[in-house]
Amino acid sequence: MDFTQKTVLITGASRGIGRACAILFAEAGARVAINYQRNRTAAEETQRMLNGDGHLIVQADVADANAVSQMVNTTVEQFGRLDILVNNAGIYEMHPIADVSYEDWQAAWQRTLNANLVGAANACYCAAQHMMAHGGGKIINITSRGAFRGEPEAPAYGASKAAMNAMSQSLAKALAPHNIIVTAVAPGWVDTDMAAGHLTEAVKAQSPLHRAATADEIARTVLFLASEGVAYITGAIVDVNGASYLRT
Ligand code: NAP
Repeated sequence: MDFTQKTVLITGASRGIGRACAILFAEAGARVAINYQRNRTAAEETQRMLNGDGHLIVQADVADANAVSQMVNTTVEQFGRLDILVNNAGIYEMHPIADVSYEDWQAAWQRTLNANLVGAANACYCAAQHMMAHGGGKIINITSRGAFRGEPEAPAYGASKAAMNAMSQSLAKALAPHNIIVTAVAPGWVDTDMAAGHLTEAVKAQSPLHRAATADEIARTVLFLASEGVAYITGAIVDVNGASYLRT
């Protein structure tokens, strides 16, 4: 896959799946805008790991609508174009309904929906304005198996990812006339900071491969979806869950 001349904005690229995407896109020739929220050191570490020059670090809390708009504008100004948006930034917070207070319940829903869903929706809006005016682009949203399988300890997370899947399908239809291809990737457990403390033997055994995914495996799927020649896949939600949850 060749992404020479292409530019990519990846939210939450300081660590985990976002960092793995940044590494692979840069290896394939793209210039990458690395978004992070708090962890500047990790974002700089990602930048040092990238092949080639001209990559960018853009701080923004995706839950802040103004910050999202600035993030996209800065990327377009610095690169002169934006070809690919990967909405990867996300949080996973436990808030079991039987245990948390009403206040904590509301706060968890607000934080989760703002970061995982509204942030991605706003990034889609801002990136699409540029892509529509410049002949098209690709948007890939990182959702989750939890959208289908349920998240009993983190219901706002499951709901945010299910909504992100639905948003991806709606935007695939709305943006197809503008040559913007929209897809979603729904991983099962992935071995990153987010999964730390969760990857017990029982969790790994959910997959017949008896392991979680690597971030690199998710990133390879993202690059495929962003590549030339696969436009007809628009609207798809691609499971990358090691056969841990099969749906028809
Ligand atoms: P991670 O290792 O916890 O990294 C999260 C990344 O998102 C970091 O770069 C973090 O930035 C950034 N981030 C978090 N909140 C943000 C905000 N409000 N604004 C901007 N950036 C923010 O997570 P991961 O495992 O790579 O997960 C990436 C995506 O995959 C998420 O959407 C997650 O829901 C999804 N996913 C993960 C798994 C899994 O098992 N790991 C499974 C299914 C889906 P800082 O470094 O600045 O904090």
